[in-house]
Amino acid sequence: MTQPQKPPKEVVVKLGDVQFVVPPGARVKDAAAAAGIEIPALKVDPATCKGCQMCVKVCETGAISGNKKEPHAIDQSLCIRCGECLARCKTGSIVPA
Ligand code: SF4
Ligand code: SF4
Repeated sequence: MTQPQKPPKEVVVKLGDVQFVVPPGARVKDAAAAAGIEIPALKVDPATCKGCQMCVKVCETGAISGNKKEPHAIDQSLCIRCGECLARCKTGSIVPA
């Protein structure tokens, strides 16, 4: 399994009513913890997901699946709540479950 690349630049992650900044190269979970936020169970909003597959590429556990250009889904039994997918989704489609 290849290691997912960390975001090369600062990313602002919106998570429900809260948001936090992920510095370049930082783990999303660590950045969230620094802001006092625990990554909750996550799901994909099928109404806005573009099926770009960016989230799939950074998910270490293979929890996200879906066909290109179609809404994706997160398998809760595989998700370890690392939050890396949150920093990659440009449409804000990954939301609290
Ligand atoms: S939070 Fe879950 S779905 Fe998202 S990258 Fe981490 S393991 Fe995968
Ligand atoms: S990164 Fe966002 S828009 Fe792209 S497939 Fe994943 S959830 Fe959908």
